[in-house]
Amino acid sequence: MPLTATAERPVTDLKGVGTALALKLQRLGISQLQDLFFHLPARYQDRTRLSAMGGLMPSIEAVVEGEVQLCDIQMGRRRALLCRLHDGTGLLTLRFFHFNAAQKNQLAKGARVRCFGEVRPGPAGLEMVHPEYRVLKAGKEEPLEQALTPIYPLTEGVTQSRLRSLILQALEMLGSQPLEELVPEGELKRRNYPALTDAIHYLHKPPVEADQQALLAGTHPAQRRLAFEELLAHNLTLRQARTKIQRYGAPPLKATGRLSRPFLDQLPFQLTGAQLRVAREVARDMNSEQPMLRLIQGDVGSGKTMIAVLAALQSIENGRQAAVMAPTEILAEQHYINFKGWLEPMGLKVCWLAGKVKGKARAAVLEEIESGEGQIIVGTHALFQDDVHFNDLAVVVIDEQHRFGVDQRLSLREKGRKDGTLPHQLIMTATPIPRTLAMSAYADLDCSIIDELPPGRTPVKTLAIDDSRRAEVIERVRQGCSQGKQAYWVCTLIEESEALQCQAAETTATELAEFLPELRIGLIHGRLKPAEKAEIMASFKAHELDLLVATTVIEVGVDVPNSSLMIIENPERLGLSQLHQLRGRVGRGSQESFCVLMYHAPLSRQGRERIAVMRETTDGFRIAERDLELRGPGEVLGTRQTGMMQFRIADLQRDADLMEAVHQCAVHISSESIQAVALGRRWISDAEQYAQV
Ligand code: ADP
Ligand code: MG
Repeated sequence: MPLTATAERPVTDLKGVGTALALKLQRLGISQLQDLFFHLPARYQDRTRLSAMGGLMPSIEAVVEGEVQLCDIQMGRRRALLCRLHDGTGLLTLRFFHFNAAQKNQLAKGARVRCFGEVRPGPAGLEMVHPEYRVLKAGKEEPLEQALTPIYPLTEGVTQSRLRSLILQALEMLGSQPLEELVPEGELKRRNYPALTDAIHYLHKPPVEADQQALLAGTHPAQRRLAFEELLAHNLTLRQARTKIQRYGAPPLKATGRLSRPFLDQLPFQLTGAQLRVAREVARDMNSEQPMLRLIQGDVGSGKTMIAVLAALQSIENGRQAAVMAPTEILAEQHYINFKGWLEPMGLKVCWLAGKVKGKARAAVLEEIESGEGQIIVGTHALFQDDVHFNDLAVVVIDEQHRFGVDQRLSLREKGRKDGTLPHQLIMTATPIPRTLAMSAYADLDCSIIDELPPGRTPVKTLAIDDSRRAEVIERVRQGCSQGKQAYWVCTLIEESEALQCQAAETTATELAEFLPELRIGLIHGRLKPAEKAEIMASFKAHELDLLVATTVIEVGVDVPNSSLMIIENPERLGLSQLHQLRGRVGRGSQESFCVLMYHAPLSRQGRERIAVMRETTDGFRIAERDLELRGPGEVLGTRQTGMMQFRIADLQRDADLMEAVHQCAVHISSESIQAVALGRRWISDAEQYAQV
């Protein structure tokens, strides 16, 4: 049989697979035998040894064996069959919510039972809920499993044992035929990786003598070899998306300086070295005949807005339009106000478009955008609704990108397509992403980093205070504000409705107003109308308010240099990067700033660590690295980001050390080569959709 033939045979060639099962398997992205080979175990269970009941710990999975002491139906809130086992070292309760009479009879007093399940704390000692179990025949030795048991990701209607037996059947058919190697040979040699077919057999059927510790930890060479290949496949697929875009071409825009020079001259400050460097990188990209695809990473307050303005001006210098998009109205509005303030005196026309702009006002803006009279259009994603037609859009700036997902990032590219060209794209994020993560999540983008803050900033001092000392904290706000400082008071609530969040903020504002009658207190939350929000932000900025009580809506981008005190209630509820974003609202002026983390005791270990990190450092990249360690890549990138980055075997954290090599390897493979396409087909079930432009 030819080399690849077995791998490419349809699953219906397996015994017991008819059209019904084939359809179910398709939901797992499985249609050929090779899809089964690469449907890798998500983890392993260790059923090779018996555990003593006396040594069990909650949340581990274990095989135990013992004698039934007692078996009874418990009535009460939820009827359950409880069965108490003992093995001479301790006791364990089995709990079944679904059971029948036969089961109860089987588990009679004196029966010997072997079971496997996850140990949990129960009302009377440790339990297993719905364990797998078997009643043992008297006097007969039952062998334990010899090797680790692979556990596969499932879909409805396909059980673990069904899938396992299909995979074993398919592997049998494959035998020792080599699967097509898609990783460059040099790389395999250098890393001393096992051959692909061997690795696949090994992972589905770990041999008895396998290094179990390594397999359970996901660090076995067979796992690393496949993780490498999977990361390479993802990297190439993102690059492929990039290549597709670049085939469109873009309007080359000359940086004439006609507008940017007068703009920079009238600023009260000079750009930092890092801003200048990044601005040059952007200007060069925009002067190219391929669309710019650049990500700017810069900590809060590093001055990313300047880069956005310069990109917009370069477009207008060439008689074209620029669009600036932000994820929230409050942030988009702030940009609008700033851009208008800077650019209207220069005779430029700045437009505003958000979901809330309706009726005649909307029609008028749409007309300005279409006629080209509007030169810079600032807004939320309303900018990219179907009825918005740009006259001649040449650059799109997307601020605070981490709020948008990969899918949105890819789909936005289509907008502004014209005569086979696409606008240049500048993407900005204040959530620094550890380099290894950025290499895999943003393989389709060029990255620039603004790694310098404008001069004259003093780092924010961070304190952690138990909320039983609330009165002291309020006193601190009184003192600060009486000296002419301004303060934020941030209320947090998780997993509750926005309505509840707003209510909590309202209650806090009322309470603070009672304690601090001499202060002018404002309240801002997500339920206010954009105009109301803008008005409140404007009066806070103009120092007509001393204290601003807010929900986390102020998280991104809001800039009031005179505010130098921030209180965050229940900071333990927020992730590190969110806390970092919030804290970035203070420390923007020259005076010393404070951030008070008013936590609620007792803190979980995670909560304590997060607060410790916040006190230790103000460096966004350090914080992102710690966030990655504490919470994992899904949280750091945001679930929306990772939505399209589900890995079968790779783990962005565990395999971080492979990323650089994967990256180097990918650079040397054309993303449109047969090899790259085959990798995408093998590892990414919806590769085509992923790469669609
Ligand atoms: P972010 O990177 O968080 O978006 P902003 O662009 O909002 O930061 O800038 C933060 C503040 O720093 C603004 O008040 C801005 O005017 C100011 N700023 C930006 N660049 C400089 C600079 N080179 N020197 C001094 N202040 C600057
Ligand atoms: Mg910003």
